[in-house]
Order: sequence, then structure tokens, then C-alpha cells
Amino acid sequence: MGAGTTVKSAIPFLDLVAQHRSLEDELVAAFRRALQTAGFVGGPEVAAFESELAAFVGSAGAVAVNSGTDALRFAYMALGIDPGDEVITVPNTFIATTEALTQAGATLRFVDVTEGTLTMDPAAVAAAIGPRTVGLVPVHLYGQPADMDPLLALARQHGLWVVEDAAQAHGAAYRGRPAGSLGSLAAFSFYPGKNLGACGEGGAVVGNESSHLDAVRRLREHGQSRKYYHETEGYNGRLDAIQAAFLRVKLRHLPAWNAARRRVAEWYADALADIADIRLPMVAPYATPVWHLFVIEAERRDALKSCLDSQGIGTGLHYPLPLHLQNAYRHLGLVRGAFPVTEQSAERILSLPMYPELTQPQVSQVADAIRAFYRG
Ligand SMILES: *Cc1c(COP(=O)(O)O)cnc(C)c1O
Repeated sequence: MGAGTTVKSAIPFLDLVAQHRSLEDELVAAFRRALQTAGFVGGPEVAAFESELAAFVGSAGAVAVNSGTDALRFAYMALGIDPGDEVITVPNTFIATTEALTQAGATLRFVDVTEGTLTMDPAAVAAAIGPRTVGLVPVHLYGQPADMDPLLALARQHGLWVVEDAAQAHGAAYRGRPAGSLGSLAAFSFYPGKNLGACGEGGAVVGNESSHLDAVRRLREHGQSRKYYHETEGYNGRLDAIQAAFLRVKLRHLPAWNAARRRVAEWYADALADIADIRLPMVAPYATPVWHLFVIEAERRDALKSCLDSQGIGTGLHYPLPLHLQNAYRHLGLVRGAFPVTEQSAERILSLPMYPELTQPQVSQVADAIRAFYRG
């Protein structure tokens, strides 16, 4: 290779191997502990993780469950949904936010998001609240909290519960208050690719009201209040002890990982600032995001994505088709045009590689590839 040639290697969208290499000894030790005690479901590792997570979020308690989807489901059910009750949420989220709502018996009421932040628009919520509305589910999308104060004010005024979908926002803050500590309950996911990820499935509900947390605890364990005494039917929604042990190891690193993600976001912002064909992610003045994803809005998005993919630069779309336009929700009768901000962003968004181990040269390589694409 001649002088002046730069070596470009592939940049994956997400690199969990790098993270696990550095934690291998601690993770293997946690696994060995579980084998030696044969405690595989629930038990002291889960209880310890729950206290550590509650302390991290600044909430009174946490209940660990086996996925973020179950965390949402149990939170909704604990707060109460009767037939005909409406719950307001956004169409630009992962379907877990809404499928657990419908399955818990709610009628979905979508509202559009605010341009730029792409999180729940409080003015749209105010217009959508009706006599059957019982709850709001804002999503802290890409690691940036929704604009919670006006949403909480509306909830108070109308007697609604609020479940934060914090699956992408471990460690984020809204006006200095931790994401997950703001609503009636909050749901976290520990799917491997999240900022705090298990080596498998996992989730948790956090909150301050012990009656709500007790209800979640019963739901994850077949509705039982004590062994073999069932207040209601429930679910098998428990977290594995091994996953709790892994999560305890990783939770200790989360603040440093989030700081590293912030650094990566700053590098991107600097490196991409001169490219007029893209729009950088907007950080709201109230938000301290944790950059679960770094999402730009781009002209000729699909062509840009193919160009980056062909150079081994991994990208993603979060999400390519808004929920109200999915076949699963065709019966709601919502057509294109119903939620213009969501729909227009879906055509332009592009998630760039984002993880704590990304280096500044890698960020420059991504930026150079984007710049070269627009220069043709
Ligand atoms: C990941 C995610 C979920 C679901 O979490 P799982 O652990 O995969 O069940 C829910 N909502 C949002 C916004 C997510 O990103």
C-alpha cells in the first residue's frame, strides 16, 4: 500500500463484542456464581439488581422482568385499563410500546411528535384527551427524554397515569431529573443492544408507589401474592438470575459508557456540521440525552444508506414505517397524512453507528463517506 493511503475498515452499526471482551472475567465470574448456587430464576442477584437500578434511577423501587415488552405490559396493567379506555401514545416507536397496550385491553390513540426532537407533542396530546382517556405513554426516543413537564401537567389536570417508555434512555435526564423517575411508572429494556443490555432478554419497571410495584411483582409471577396463592391470573415474566448478575456488572459501567456516547455525539456534530444536505439530531434545552442512537435526517436517504452500507458502514432505520401505517393497525383506519411530522421524518431518518467504543477516526470516516456522497 502506497504512502498516503488510508486504511478503511468496516464500521459496524453496533459492536457488543468489544464491550464483552473487556468485561469477560467479571461476566464469567457471575455465571460461575450462578452455577455454584443453582439459583437461576429470581433470588438475591435479582433483588440486588433491583435495588441498584432503583438507586440509579432515583426511584423508590424496581421490579425486574424478562423483557422491556413485559415491563410495559405489567406497568399498563398495574395502573389499570378497563375495556374502552383510551391511551395516548406516538406512532414513531417500536411496536412493543403499543402491542402491550392493546393486549392489555386499551384503545390506542396516536398523536404526532414535535419536529426536531421527534418525541410526543404536548399540544397534540392536549387536543387528543377525551372522556375515555386514562393514560399517556411518552417514548424517550433515541435516548432523549420527551418534554415531560407539560405532559405531566396535562396528566395531573385530567387524572391520567403516565408510563415512560424508557427502553432507550437509561441514564438520560429531563431538566436534571432522571428519565424513568418522572411518570407514574417507567419501563426499561435490557435487550442486548440497549445502553444497558443483558446477554439475553431483560426489562424492569421502576416507580415510587409501592402498590403499583407490588402489582407488577404479582403479574410477573402468575398473579400470586405468596407461593401458590393467586390474586389474579398473571404471567411468567421473571428475570433470570444470570441476566441480573450480568446487568449488575454492566450497570457499574453505564455512566462511563453514556459519557463515551456523548463524546461520540460531539465528534459527529463537529465532523458533520458543514454538510448542508443533512440535519443533525436536535437536543432540546431540557434534555440530557444518552445517545442510544445517533439519528440524522438526510436528503436522498435511501441512496445515502446504500452508499454507506456498500462501504461497510452499518446504518439503521428507527423506524422505517410509522405504526399507524403498519398492517397490524390497518383496522384503526388511519391513513397517510394523519401524522405529518412522523411520516416525513420516517423518509429522512438514518441511524449512524453509535456505541461507546467508537473512535474519533471512525467517526471521521463515517462523516467523510457522507460528505463524499453529497459531493457526488
Ligand atoms: C427495545 C424497545 C422496547 C422493547 O423492549 P424489549 O426488551 O425488546 O421487549 C420497547 N420500546 C422501545 C422504544 C424500545 O426501543
